[in-house]
Amino acid sequence: MTVVADDLDVFIGFPPHALNVYFTGGVLIDSGTRFARRRLLRELRGRDVRAVSLTHGHADHQGSAHRICATLGIPLYCPAGEADSIEAGEIAHLIPDNLPARLHRVVCQGPGHPVARRLREGDQVGDFVVIETPGHSPGHISYWREADGVLIVGDAIFSRPGGKRLAEAPAIFTTDPATNRASIRRLAKLEPRVLLFNHGPAVRDMDQLNRLVDALPPD
Ligand SMILES: [Zn+2]
Repeated sequence: MTVVADDLDVFIGFPPHALNVYFTGGVLIDSGTRFARRRLLRELRGRDVRAVSLTHGHADHQGSAHRICATLGIPLYCPAGEADSIEAGEIAHLIPDNLPARLHRVVCQGPGHPVARRLREGDQVGDFVVIETPGHSPGHISYWREADGVLIVGDAIFSRPGGKRLAEAPAIFTTDPATNRASIRRLAKLEPRVLLFNHGPAVRDMDQLNRLVDALPPD
């Protein structure tokens, strides 16, 4: 567990930052793959955990949600646009239909779980506000804290190892890359000061975000 901002910890997992999970205001943001359950429950021991809240329903984000919610007796929050799928554990259509994506899903996916809150644009989760950022998946959301400019972008943007370069989410795992690019442009307009990703280390140099936006192909 590492502190990255006020009341915001990151579980960086192993290999480091391959798959981050965040913890803020008693809420676990995403839950890793189904193999992350024991590690996350161990890291959360002694903490006041009140909910699990997802950025989207891909298997490496919803994988341990059911087991963590059931073990701790806490509710699951999900993007409204993917809540039915996540609840039913039927997430195949949230990712493109290609072999690597299918394999990734089959290996990493966890069971469905009842959704207690369906999150939409402007909803509050702890200190963060929900921003709808579709494209990487149909209902993908990000979490924004204007007070200190912290933005959890989920998989809308990837940060390469070393945190020296940002990239669009890989097309092979992205249902609508053009819509995701529109979401990236929208996130940049928030003028964040800290960018946090599910894949890759945190970035505080916003020139990197500006370079990414400038390099995006026109849609
Ligand atoms: Zn994803």
